[in-house]
Amino acid sequence: MQELTCKLLIIGGGPGGYVCGIRAGQLGIDTIVVEEGKPGGTCLNVGCIPSKALIHAADEFHKISQFTEKSLLGISASAPRIDLARTVAWKDGIVNRLNAGVAGLLRRAGTRLIGGRADFIDGKTVNVLTGESNTRIRADHIVIAVGSTAVELPFLPFGDNVMDSTAALSLTEVPEHLAVVGGGYIGLEIGTAYAKLGSKVTIVEATDRILPQYDSALTRPVLKSLQALGVTVLTSARARGRNAKGLIVEQADGREKIIKTNRVLVTVGRRPRGERANIASLSLAMDGAFIRIDDKCRTSMRGVWAVGDVTGEPMLAHRAMAQGAMVAELVAGVPRAWDKLCVPAVCFTDPEIVTCGLAPEEAAAQGIDIRTGQFPFTASGRAMTMEADDGFIRVIARKDDGVILGLQGVGKGISELSAAFSIAIEMGARLEDISEIIHAHPTLGEGLQEACLAALGHALHA
Ligand code: FAD
Ligand code: NAD
Repeated sequence: MQELTCKLLIIGGGPGGYVCGIRAGQLGIDTIVVEEGKPGGTCLNVGCIPSKALIHAADEFHKISQFTEKSLLGISASAPRIDLARTVAWKDGIVNRLNAGVAGLLRRAGTRLIGGRADFIDGKTVNVLTGESNTRIRADHIVIAVGSTAVELPFLPFGDNVMDSTAALSLTEVPEHLAVVGGGYIGLEIGTAYAKLGSKVTIVEATDRILPQYDSALTRPVLKSLQALGVTVLTSARARGRNAKGLIVEQADGREKIIKTNRVLVTVGRRPRGERANIASLSLAMDGAFIRIDDKCRTSMRGVWAVGDVTGEPMLAHRAMAQGAMVAELVAGVPRAWDKLCVPAVCFTDPEIVTCGLAPEEAAAQGIDIRTGQFPFTASGRAMTMEADDGFIRVIARKDDGVILGLQGVGKGISELSAAFSIAIEMGARLEDISEIIHAHPTLGEGLQEACLAALGHALHA
């Protein structure tokens, strides 16, 4: 048995763990990251990056499919074909490049990356099993960054054509029919991609609308676009199991419906990997299935920290990364605390949805007097030239001083505006600040300025 010591040991090399490792190395902390799979975690290997690669390929394919004799743009093209095996190979190439990139960044920062499965022995010691050999590592600080995994429905176990997102991102043929159980982030992103590639997609969502975490104004354009793609959306409907004909769904009125399909994608949420790494032996304070953390990502055990999906919602890569960087700085002695005003969220549907900060109902629930402003993309020259005029940008600001509390939007390509939204909120911008900044014309970003002008009562272009 090999024995190692270090100041900081990180279990898990996903966005939370590897960013913590890079930042700690930069700060001169003797750090080890232990990862049982490939560096980059869920996000890089089977999540954010592969899904966005598939979405991009599907968008390109669909765009060309639209270029028929009737195309308003006057472009016509012969029917495109897709070799999904090659698309998947291209996607895997990107993932491999980024795997090597993460390993290189850790190396350059002076942080050691060890392959293997880590298990706690106590709050200062872990055993790492690599192949058949064990390494005992003792550290002053240990960060739990083990992430999350897909929720499995007991009556639809994964395998035998019931897929989780990982399987759905590696198909080598476009399924003729695809039933998606769960109309949340993953179901809609991947479901839309397969609909664009030619699958007949049915989405089964338990609540009364898709993406129930967003308000219906934001999801309406997404629903419209799904319908235009020929996707069947069943809301207030629950999957109950499968039979030889297909997926059994219980509808709102209690009646059963069979969706004829041989392929089912189950995307009903993700759960933290609390069962990993012998975490249970530490008896940490928990919030349900999540590890409880304070505003510094400290757990209830001294010297044990936790970051990323294992610590709660929102389970997003950029939150995990920000937590990881913060913990590295805290271990280095930098005074830090989680003081973020917002964690932006983007749903890469068509059109895309961006939310940042408070929605109107959330502000109202907190008893804050607000004013709102909205700019529809039907009034945007840029949106029209991109055939992307379905959508809007909305701003929520304090009524008294105009400080911006929330920004949301839905529109084609709007994910790239998430940075502007976050900057406005985190820098404490007021409506006047944004409305007086020159926004380049013609861009979708002008919608942000116009929404602020609308909240001030003098929109120029709407
Ligand atoms: P993870 O990325 O899950 O990493 C944890 C790592 O720990 C894993 O690599 C695992 O192998 C390792 N590990 C676990 N136990 C051990 C052990 N005992 N020893 C050693 N290693 C261990 N988020 C976004 O922000 N934007 C997106 O567009 C987006 N798209 C997504 C699409 C899909 C299909 C999925 C599934 C997720 C998506 N997410 C997205 C969510 C994002 O992937 C997660 O929020 C993010 O990966 C969480 O990072 P993490 O570091 O907490 O955990
Ligand atoms: P989700 O929570 O976004 O959606 C799950 C949906 O399934 C919900 O709408 C829920 O009502 C529905 N549901 C639950 N049980 C059901 C049942 N029996 N029958 C029918 N519907 C049912 O979960 P997800 O799509 O699996 O994504 C998991 C997490 O991954 C997200 O919360 C997010 O944190 C992360 N993610 C983020 C992105 C992004 O940032 N673009 C993309 C993908 C995933």
